[in-house]
Amino acid sequence: MTDRHEGGCVCGAVRYVTRGDPERVSLCHCAWCQRRTGSAFGTEAVFKHTNVTFTGDTLRKYRHLSDESGRWLDQHFCGTCGTNLGLTMEAVPDIRSVPAGTFDDPGWLKPGSIPFRHIFLRSDHGWSEVPEGMERYEEHFRP
Ligand SMILES: [Zn+2]
Ligand SMILES: [Zn+2]
Repeated sequence: MTDRHEGGCVCGAVRYVTRGDPERVSLCHCAWCQRRTGSAFGTEAVFKHTNVTFTGDTLRKYRHLSDESGRWLDQHFCGTCGTNLGLTMEAVPDIRSVPAGTFDDPGWLKPGSIPFRHIFLRSDHGWSEVPEGMERYEEHFRP
């Protein structure tokens, strides 16, 4: 577990280091992730909380309350440049996601060696093709 990877926001005020492989990479096509990223889907590398360390400016956060479960989900971001820097969830307290594109060299995250899961494909708009062989779910993989 000496495998360290670094990343950060576009302005450089916030930096982070991860240790080891993520549990999975979730490519979430839900409408909420489309809106928070302004993109076709959110791409989050999901780590154990203890394997991610942030340095630099204190992260800001926006707390979203689920209107279904009533539980919170925090969106973390750089207070200077606004770069999305991952999610924490009341429902899954031991994990902390890091957006895959914020690594200095995101190419180390390889499908095949790490589970890549495309989830909430029910709200996909056909803006991108899901590669053959990837795990696909119409909703969440935890039914
Ligand atoms: Zn920044
Ligand atoms: Zn989502």
